[in-house]
Amino acid sequence: MIILEVINQCSSPILGAFLSIFKRAMNIIQIVVPILLMISLAINLTKLVANPDDKKLLPKIKNAAIAAVLVFFIPMLVNVVMGMVDNSYNFSACWNETVEQNFKVTEYMNPSGNTQRQSIIPNSSDYEKGKKQETNTDTNTNTNNNSNSNSSSDSNNQESNYNPSNDLPSNPGNISGDLQVHFINPKSRVDAIYIKVGNKSIYIDGGFRGDSKTEIAYLEIIGVNHIDYYIGSHSHTNHVEAAPPIISKYGIKTVIGGRETCNGSGKTPCTEYAIRGFAQKQGISLSGVSFNVLVPGDIFYLGGLKITCLGPINVTNGLSPTETKQNYNSLVLRLDYGSTSFLLTGDNSSSSTMKEINQKYPGSLNVDVLKNAHHNGCASDSSYQMFNAEYVVFTTRHDYLPSSSCINTIKKHGAKYYFIAADNQSGNVLITSDGSNIKAYPHYKD
Ligand SMILES: [Zn+2]
Repeated sequence: MIILEVINQCSSPILGAFLSIFKRAMNIIQIVVPILLMISLAINLTKLVANPDDKKLLPKIKNAAIAAVLVFFIPMLVNVVMGMVDNSYNFSACWNETVEQNFKVTEYMNPSGNTQRQSIIPNSSDYEKGKKQETNTDTNTNTNNNSNSNSSSDSNNQESNYNPSNDLPSNPGNISGDLQVHFINPKSRVDAIYIKVGNKSIYIDGGFRGDSKTEIAYLEIIGVNHIDYYIGSHSHTNHVEAAPPIISKYGIKTVIGGRETCNGSGKTPCTEYAIRGFAQKQGISLSGVSFNVLVPGDIFYLGGLKITCLGPINVTNGLSPTETKQNYNSLVLRLDYGSTSFLLTGDNSSSSTMKEINQKYPGSLNVDVLKNAHHNGCASDSSYQMFNAEYVVFTTRHDYLPSSSCINTIKKHGAKYYFIAADNQSGNVLITSDGSNIKAYPHYKD
Protein backbone atom coordinates (compact mmCIF):
# COMPACT_ATOMS: atom_id res chain seq x y z
CA MET A 1 0.00 0.00 0.00
CA ILE A 2 2.46 2.58 -1.20
CA ILE A 3 -0.03 5.44 -1.35
CA LEU A 4 -0.84 5.07 2.33
CA GLU A 5 2.79 5.64 3.20
CA VAL A 6 3.04 8.94 1.37
CA ILE A 7 2.28 11.75 3.73
CA ASN A 8 1.82 15.43 4.09
CA GLN A 9 4.30 17.00 1.74
CA CYS A 10 3.20 15.39 -1.52
CA SER A 11 0.83 17.69 -3.33
CA SER A 12 -1.10 14.68 -4.53
CA PRO A 13 -1.14 11.00 -3.59
CA ILE A 14 -0.48 10.18 -7.27
CA LEU A 15 2.77 12.20 -7.28
CA GLY A 16 3.72 10.59 -3.97
CA ALA A 17 2.95 7.10 -5.20
CA PHE A 18 4.84 7.73 -8.45
CA LEU A 19 7.93 9.01 -6.61
CA SER A 20 7.76 6.18 -4.12
CA ILE A 21 7.61 3.54 -6.91
CA PHE A 22 10.31 5.40 -8.86
CA LYS A 23 12.55 5.48 -5.83
CA ARG A 24 12.10 1.81 -5.07
CA ALA A 25 12.83 0.97 -8.71
CA MET A 26 15.93 3.18 -8.55
CA ASN A 27 17.11 1.36 -5.42
CA ILE A 28 16.78 -2.00 -7.19
CA ILE A 29 18.53 -0.71 -10.34
CA GLN A 30 21.30 0.74 -8.17
CA ILE A 31 22.19 -2.76 -6.94
CA VAL A 32 21.24 -5.05 -9.85
CA VAL A 33 22.70 -3.11 -12.80
CA PRO A 34 26.21 -2.71 -11.31
CA ILE A 35 26.21 -6.46 -10.49
CA LEU A 36 25.30 -7.32 -14.11
CA LEU A 37 27.92 -4.90 -15.39
CA MET A 38 30.54 -6.40 -13.10
CA ILE A 39 29.65 -9.90 -14.34
CA SER A 40 30.01 -8.70 -17.94
CA LEU A 41 33.28 -7.04 -16.96
CA ALA A 42 34.56 -10.27 -15.37
CA ILE A 43 33.60 -12.29 -18.49
CA ASN A 44 35.40 -9.82 -20.75
CA LEU A 45 38.42 -9.81 -18.46
CA THR A 46 38.57 -13.60 -18.66
CA LYS A 47 38.32 -13.38 -22.45
CA LEU A 48 41.10 -10.81 -22.47
CA VAL A 49 43.36 -13.07 -20.42
CA ALA A 50 42.60 -15.92 -22.86
CA ASN A 51 43.11 -13.68 -25.89
CA PRO A 52 45.29 -10.63 -25.06
CA ASP A 53 45.31 -9.48 -28.69
CA ASP A 54 41.54 -8.80 -28.86
CA LYS A 55 41.53 -4.97 -29.02
CA LYS A 56 37.73 -4.69 -28.74
CA LEU A 57 37.67 -6.05 -25.22
CA LEU A 58 39.53 -3.23 -23.44
CA PRO A 59 37.02 -0.45 -24.25
CA LYS A 60 34.17 -2.78 -23.28
CA ILE A 61 35.79 -3.42 -19.89
CA LYS A 62 36.42 0.30 -19.35
CA ASN A 63 32.84 1.25 -20.26
CA ALA A 64 31.35 -1.44 -18.03
CA ALA A 65 33.44 -0.25 -15.07
CA ILE A 66 32.46 3.43 -15.58
CA ALA A 67 28.79 2.51 -16.05
CA ALA A 68 28.78 0.38 -12.88
CA VAL A 69 30.21 3.24 -10.81
CA LEU A 70 27.81 5.80 -12.31
CA VAL A 71 24.72 3.66 -11.81
CA PHE A 72 25.73 3.03 -8.24
CA PHE A 73 26.33 6.71 -7.37
CA ILE A 74 23.64 8.56 -9.36
CA PRO A 75 20.77 7.77 -6.92
CA MET A 76 22.88 9.07 -4.03
CA LEU A 77 23.61 12.23 -6.00
CA VAL A 78 19.90 12.76 -6.68
CA ASN A 79 19.11 12.37 -2.97
CA VAL A 80 21.85 14.85 -2.02
CA VAL A 81 20.57 17.42 -4.55
CA MET A 82 16.95 16.99 -3.41
CA GLY A 83 18.07 17.33 0.20
CA MET A 84 19.74 20.66 -0.64
CA VAL A 85 16.70 22.02 -2.47
CA ASP A 86 14.34 23.94 -0.23
CA ASN A 87 11.29 21.96 0.80
CA SER A 88 9.03 24.75 -0.35
CA TYR A 89 9.14 23.16 -3.80
CA ASN A 90 6.42 20.55 -4.04
CA PHE A 91 8.47 18.03 -5.93
CA SER A 92 11.52 18.13 -3.67
CA ALA A 93 9.40 18.17 -0.50
CA CYS A 94 7.53 15.13 -1.73
CA TRP A 95 10.78 13.48 -2.76
CA ASN A 96 12.40 14.15 0.59
CA GLU A 97 9.33 12.86 2.39
CA THR A 98 9.63 9.56 0.55
CA VAL A 99 13.33 9.48 1.44
CA GLU A 100 12.14 9.45 5.04
CA GLN A 101 10.08 6.37 4.27
CA ASN A 102 13.38 4.56 3.76
CA PHE A 103 15.04 6.31 6.66
CA LYS A 104 12.42 5.07 9.06
CA VAL A 105 13.32 1.48 8.30
CA THR A 106 17.06 1.72 8.29
CA GLU A 107 18.32 4.68 10.23
CA TYR A 108 16.25 5.40 13.30
CA MET A 109 18.37 5.10 16.34
CA ASN A 110 18.22 1.91 18.29
CA PRO A 111 16.53 2.83 21.59
CA SER A 112 19.17 0.73 23.43
CA GLY A 113 17.61 0.53 26.84
CA ASN A 114 17.19 4.23 27.50
CA THR A 115 13.69 3.76 28.81
CA GLN A 116 13.76 5.66 32.07
CA ARG A 117 11.44 8.58 31.63
CA GLN A 118 9.52 10.66 34.01
CA SER A 119 6.27 12.43 33.80
CA ILE A 120 6.81 16.14 33.93
CA ILE A 121 4.35 16.23 36.79
CA PRO A 122 6.53 16.79 39.82
CA ASN A 123 3.87 15.67 42.25
CA SER A 124 0.91 13.52 41.42
CA SER A 125 -1.25 15.45 43.89
CA ASP A 126 -1.14 18.23 41.30
CA TYR A 127 -3.64 16.33 39.23
CA GLU A 128 -6.64 18.40 38.90
CA LYS A 129 -9.30 17.24 41.32
CA GLY A 130 -8.47 13.75 40.27
CA LYS A 131 -7.20 10.52 41.63
CA LYS A 132 -3.56 9.76 41.24
CA GLN A 133 -2.93 8.34 37.84
CA GLU A 134 -2.32 4.63 37.69
CA THR A 135 1.28 3.70 37.33
CA ASN A 136 2.28 1.49 34.48
CA THR A 137 3.74 -1.94 34.69
CA ASP A 138 7.24 -1.17 33.49
CA THR A 139 9.45 -2.30 36.33
CA ASN A 140 12.38 -0.19 35.16
CA THR A 141 10.57 3.02 35.88
CA ASN A 142 9.66 4.92 38.97
CA THR A 143 6.17 5.48 40.28
CA ASN A 144 5.67 8.78 38.53
CA ASN A 145 6.58 7.31 35.21
CA ASN A 146 3.74 7.09 32.78
CA SER A 147 5.56 6.80 29.55
CA ASN A 148 5.25 3.37 28.21
CA SER A 149 2.58 1.07 27.02
CA ASN A 150 2.81 -2.00 24.91
CA SER A 151 -0.81 -2.49 24.12
CA SER A 152 -1.97 -1.72 20.62
CA SER A 153 -4.70 0.53 21.91
CA ASP A 154 -4.17 2.26 25.18
CA SER A 155 -6.87 3.92 27.15
CA ASN A 156 -5.85 6.34 29.83
CA ASN A 157 -7.06 5.50 33.28
CA GLN A 158 -7.18 8.80 35.04
CA GLU A 159 -10.33 9.98 36.64
CA SER A 160 -9.75 13.70 36.79
CA ASN A 161 -12.61 15.93 35.82
CA TYR A 162 -11.55 18.88 33.80
CA ASN A 163 -13.31 22.04 34.75
CA PRO A 164 -11.34 25.02 33.56
CA SER A 165 -13.59 27.65 35.07
CA ASN A 166 -12.75 26.47 38.60
CA ASP A 167 -9.06 25.97 38.20
CA LEU A 168 -7.31 29.15 37.36
CA PRO A 169 -7.58 31.22 40.50
CA SER A 170 -5.84 28.49 42.47
CA ASN A 171 -3.06 27.65 40.08
CA PRO A 172 0.47 27.86 41.45
CA GLY A 173 1.84 30.69 39.32
CA ASN A 174 0.76 34.29 39.12
CA ILE A 175 -0.34 36.03 35.99
CA SER A 176 2.50 38.36 35.26
CA GLY A 177 2.86 40.25 32.01
CA ASP A 178 1.76 39.01 28.65
CA LEU A 179 1.63 35.47 27.43
CA GLN A 180 3.07 35.39 23.91
CA VAL A 181 2.21 32.62 21.47
CA HIS A 182 4.18 32.98 18.24
CA PHE A 183 3.03 30.96 15.24
CA ILE A 184 6.19 31.22 13.16
CA ASN A 185 5.88 31.02 9.40
CA PRO A 186 8.81 29.02 8.04
CA LYS A 187 7.20 29.13 4.54
CA SER A 188 6.49 25.43 4.80
CA ARG A 189 3.57 23.21 5.76
CA VAL A 190 4.69 22.80 9.32
CA ASP A 191 4.00 23.89 12.89
CA ALA A 192 6.58 26.07 14.61
CA ILE A 193 5.21 27.58 17.81
CA TYR A 194 7.15 29.56 20.38
CA ILE A 195 5.44 30.30 23.68
CA LYS A 196 6.81 32.74 26.22
CA VAL A 197 5.55 33.87 29.58
CA GLY A 198 7.76 35.79 32.00
CA ASN A 199 11.21 34.32 31.58
CA LYS A 200 9.97 30.81 30.72
CA SER A 201 9.42 29.43 27.27
CA ILE A 202 8.38 26.42 25.22
CA TYR A 203 8.96 25.50 21.61
CA ILE A 204 6.52 23.20 19.83
CA ASP A 205 7.43 21.19 16.71
CA GLY A 206 9.43 23.16 14.09
CA GLY A 207 9.01 21.20 10.89
CA PHE A 208 11.71 19.94 8.59
CA ARG A 209 15.36 20.42 9.40
CA GLY A 210 15.70 23.16 6.76
CA ASP A 211 12.84 25.09 8.38
CA SER A 212 14.85 25.50 11.57
CA LYS A 213 17.05 28.12 9.84
CA THR A 214 14.08 30.43 9.21
CA GLU A 215 12.77 29.79 12.71
CA ILE A 216 16.11 30.51 14.36
CA ALA A 217 16.38 33.73 12.31
CA TYR A 218 12.95 34.76 13.65
CA LEU A 219 13.87 33.82 17.22
CA GLU A 220 17.00 35.93 16.90
CA ILE A 221 14.95 38.92 15.74
CA ILE A 222 12.73 38.66 18.81
CA GLY A 223 15.76 38.22 21.07
CA VAL A 224 15.46 34.61 22.19
CA ASN A 225 18.64 33.07 23.56
CA HIS A 226 17.32 30.23 25.69
CA ILE A 227 14.24 27.98 25.65
CA ASP A 228 13.15 25.79 28.56
CA TYR A 229 11.00 23.05 27.03
CA TYR A 230 10.54 21.42 23.67
CA ILE A 231 7.27 19.64 22.85
CA GLY A 232 6.98 17.33 19.85
CA SER A 233 3.30 16.94 19.02
CA HIS A 234 3.83 13.68 17.14
CA SER A 235 6.53 11.80 15.28
CA HIS A 236 6.01 13.09 11.73
CA THR A 237 9.05 14.42 9.91
CA ASN A 238 7.33 17.70 9.09
CA HIS A 239 6.92 18.31 12.82
CA VAL A 240 10.06 17.12 14.58
CA GLU A 241 12.92 16.87 12.11
CA ALA A 242 13.88 20.41 13.16
CA ALA A 243 13.88 19.45 16.85
CA PRO A 244 17.59 18.61 17.24
CA PRO A 245 18.98 21.96 15.95
CA ILE A 246 16.42 23.90 18.02
CA ILE A 247 17.08 21.83 21.16
CA SER A 248 20.81 22.16 20.71
CA LYS A 249 20.88 25.87 19.83
CA TYR A 250 18.68 26.99 22.74
CA GLY A 251 20.04 24.69 25.44
CA ILE A 252 16.75 22.85 25.93
CA LYS A 253 17.09 20.12 28.53
CA THR A 254 13.49 18.90 28.75
CA VAL A 255 11.77 17.35 25.75
CA ILE A 256 8.17 16.27 25.88
CA GLY A 257 6.11 14.04 23.61
CA GLY A 258 3.20 11.65 23.56
CA ARG A 259 3.23 8.18 25.09
CA GLU A 260 2.61 6.02 22.03
CA THR A 261 5.29 3.62 20.87
CA CYS A 262 5.84 2.77 17.24
CA ASN A 263 7.19 0.19 14.89
CA GLY A 264 10.85 -0.38 15.77
CA SER A 265 10.90 1.85 18.84
CA GLY A 266 10.53 -0.91 21.42
CA LYS A 267 9.38 0.72 24.63
CA THR A 268 10.65 4.14 23.60
CA PRO A 269 7.84 6.61 22.87
CA CYS A 270 7.60 7.25 19.16
CA THR A 271 8.26 10.99 19.13
CA GLU A 272 11.39 10.52 21.23
CA TYR A 273 12.46 7.71 18.90
CA ALA A 274 11.99 9.97 15.88
CA ILE A 275 13.82 12.93 17.46
CA ARG A 276 16.73 10.73 18.55
CA GLY A 277 16.87 9.25 15.05
CA PHE A 278 16.94 12.67 13.41
CA ALA A 279 19.60 13.89 15.88
CA GLN A 280 21.77 10.91 15.09
CA LYS A 281 21.34 11.47 11.36
CA GLN A 282 22.16 15.16 11.76
CA GLY A 283 25.17 14.51 14.00
CA ILE A 284 23.66 16.48 16.89
CA SER A 285 24.22 15.24 20.43
CA LEU A 286 21.24 15.10 22.78
CA SER A 287 23.27 14.21 25.84
CA GLY A 288 21.91 15.75 29.01
CA VAL A 289 18.43 16.07 27.47
CA SER A 290 15.63 14.30 29.32
CA PHE A 291 12.65 12.93 27.44
CA ASN A 292 9.26 13.02 29.06
CA VAL A 293 5.74 12.08 28.12
CA LEU A 294 2.37 13.68 28.63
CA VAL A 295 -0.78 11.68 29.18
CA PRO A 296 -4.31 13.08 29.37
CA GLY A 297 -4.84 14.84 32.67
CA ASP A 298 -1.20 15.89 33.07
CA ILE A 299 -0.88 19.53 34.01
CA PHE A 300 2.12 21.72 34.37
CA TYR A 301 2.74 25.39 34.81
CA LEU A 302 4.96 28.05 33.38
CA GLY A 303 4.42 30.78 35.93
CA GLY A 304 0.78 31.68 35.56
CA LEU A 305 0.33 29.65 32.41
CA LYS A 306 -1.33 26.31 32.96
CA ILE A 307 -0.70 23.63 30.36
CA THR A 308 -3.04 20.67 30.36
CA CYS A 309 -2.72 17.56 28.24
CA LEU A 310 -6.24 16.68 27.11
CA GLY A 311 -5.50 13.97 24.63
CA PRO A 312 -5.45 11.85 22.76
CA ILE A 313 -7.36 9.68 25.24
CA ASN A 314 -6.49 6.60 23.18
CA VAL A 315 -3.34 6.12 21.18
CA THR A 316 -2.42 3.61 18.51
CA ASN A 317 0.91 1.90 19.12
CA GLY A 318 2.98 0.06 16.55
CA LEU A 319 2.49 2.38 13.58
CA SER A 320 5.52 3.46 11.61
CA PRO A 321 6.77 6.90 12.74
CA THR A 322 5.83 8.46 9.41
CA GLU A 323 2.47 6.78 8.91
CA THR A 324 -0.40 9.17 8.27
CA LYS A 325 -2.38 7.78 11.20
CA GLN A 326 0.24 9.20 13.57
CA ASN A 327 -1.71 12.44 13.18
CA TYR A 328 -4.31 10.99 15.54
CA ASN A 329 -1.61 10.32 18.11
CA SER A 330 -0.86 14.08 18.22
CA LEU A 331 -0.93 15.63 21.65
CA VAL A 332 -3.91 17.88 22.27
CA LEU A 333 -2.86 20.63 24.67
CA ARG A 334 -4.85 23.34 26.35
CA LEU A 335 -3.20 26.52 27.61
CA ASP A 336 -4.95 28.60 30.24
CA TYR A 337 -3.70 32.06 31.09
CA GLY A 338 -6.04 33.96 33.34
CA SER A 339 -9.43 33.70 31.74
CA THR A 340 -8.03 33.20 28.27
CA SER A 341 -7.40 29.83 26.67
CA PHE A 342 -5.68 28.26 23.70
CA LEU A 343 -6.00 24.82 22.13
CA LEU A 344 -3.07 23.25 20.29
CA THR A 345 -4.05 20.15 18.41
CA GLY A 346 -0.93 19.11 16.51
CA ASP A 347 -2.29 17.37 13.44
CA ASN A 348 -5.16 15.81 15.30
CA SER A 349 -8.27 16.65 13.32
CA SER A 350 -10.13 13.48 14.23
CA SER A 351 -13.65 14.20 15.38
CA SER A 352 -13.75 10.94 17.35
CA THR A 353 -10.62 12.05 19.28
CA MET A 354 -12.31 15.35 20.08
CA LYS A 355 -15.52 13.62 21.15
CA GLU A 356 -13.56 11.32 23.47
CA ILE A 357 -11.82 14.32 25.02
CA ASN A 358 -15.05 16.20 25.47
CA GLN A 359 -16.64 13.17 27.06
CA LYS A 360 -13.82 12.82 29.56
CA TYR A 361 -13.25 16.51 30.19
CA PRO A 362 -16.53 18.22 29.34
CA GLY A 363 -16.11 21.74 28.05
CA SER A 364 -12.32 21.51 27.91
CA LEU A 365 -12.20 22.04 24.14
CA ASN A 366 -14.05 25.34 24.31
CA VAL A 367 -11.29 27.92 23.92
CA ASP A 368 -10.57 31.44 22.73
CA VAL A 369 -7.76 30.57 20.34
CA LEU A 370 -7.52 27.40 18.27
CA LYS A 371 -4.40 26.24 16.46
CA ASN A 372 -6.17 24.42 13.68
CA ALA A 373 -5.27 20.78 13.30
CA HIS A 374 -3.37 19.53 10.33
CA HIS A 375 -2.13 22.66 8.61
CA ASN A 376 -4.75 23.62 6.03
CA GLY A 377 -7.17 20.81 6.90
CA CYS A 378 -10.67 21.24 8.19
CA ALA A 379 -11.93 19.62 11.36
CA SER A 380 -15.52 18.44 11.50
CA ASP A 381 -18.48 20.72 11.97
CA SER A 382 -19.11 19.15 15.40
CA SER A 383 -15.48 19.75 16.45
CA TYR A 384 -15.59 23.45 15.53
CA GLN A 385 -18.81 23.69 17.48
CA MET A 386 -17.00 22.32 20.55
CA PHE A 387 -13.97 24.57 20.03
CA ASN A 388 -16.15 27.65 19.69
CA ALA A 389 -12.95 29.62 19.16
CA GLU A 390 -12.92 33.32 18.53
CA TYR A 391 -9.49 33.14 16.89
CA VAL A 392 -8.33 30.33 14.60
CA VAL A 393 -4.79 30.01 13.32
CA PHE A 394 -3.84 27.84 10.37
CA THR A 395 -0.17 26.97 9.90
CA THR A 396 0.38 26.22 6.27
CA ARG A 397 1.95 27.40 3.03
CA HIS A 398 0.72 29.76 0.33
CA ASP A 399 -0.22 26.93 -2.00
CA TYR A 400 -2.08 24.90 0.63
CA LEU A 401 -4.60 27.38 1.92
CA PRO A 402 -7.71 26.25 3.78
CA SER A 403 -10.81 26.01 1.62
CA SER A 404 -13.45 28.72 1.76
CA SER A 405 -15.96 26.15 3.03
CA CYS A 406 -13.60 25.45 5.94
CA ILE A 407 -13.35 29.17 6.73
CA ASN A 408 -17.14 29.42 6.54
CA THR A 409 -17.46 26.52 8.97
CA ILE A 410 -15.15 28.10 11.53
CA LYS A 411 -16.95 31.43 11.18
CA LYS A 412 -20.28 29.68 11.64
CA HIS A 413 -19.02 28.34 14.95
CA GLY A 414 -17.78 31.54 16.50
CA ALA A 415 -14.50 32.52 14.84
CA LYS A 416 -14.33 36.28 14.47
CA TYR A 417 -10.73 36.24 13.40
CA TYR A 418 -8.72 33.72 11.50
CA PHE A 419 -5.10 33.85 10.52
CA ILE A 420 -3.18 31.81 8.03
CA ALA A 421 0.46 31.69 9.07
CA ALA A 422 1.74 31.42 5.49
CA ASP A 423 4.05 33.61 3.47
CA ASN A 424 1.49 35.51 1.38
CA GLN A 425 -1.25 35.45 4.02
CA SER A 426 -0.82 36.49 7.67
CA GLY A 427 2.92 35.71 7.79
CA ASN A 428 4.16 35.14 11.33
CA VAL A 429 1.25 35.44 13.72
CA LEU A 430 1.74 36.55 17.32
CA ILE A 431 -1.16 36.22 19.72
CA THR A 432 -0.82 37.68 23.18
CA SER A 433 -2.90 37.49 26.30
CA ASP A 434 -2.67 39.56 29.47
CA GLY A 435 -4.90 37.04 31.21
CA SER A 436 -8.10 38.81 30.19
CA ASN A 437 -7.62 40.26 26.74
CA ILE A 438 -6.31 38.66 23.61
CA LYS A 439 -4.51 40.60 20.92
CA ALA A 440 -3.37 39.28 17.56
CA TYR A 441 -0.49 40.55 15.46
CA PRO A 442 -0.43 39.12 11.95
CA HIS A 443 2.75 39.68 9.92
CA TYR A 444 4.68 39.99 13.15
CA LYS A 445 8.33 40.74 12.31
CA ASP A 446 7.80 39.36 8.78
ZN1 LIG B 1 1.36 14.82 11.01
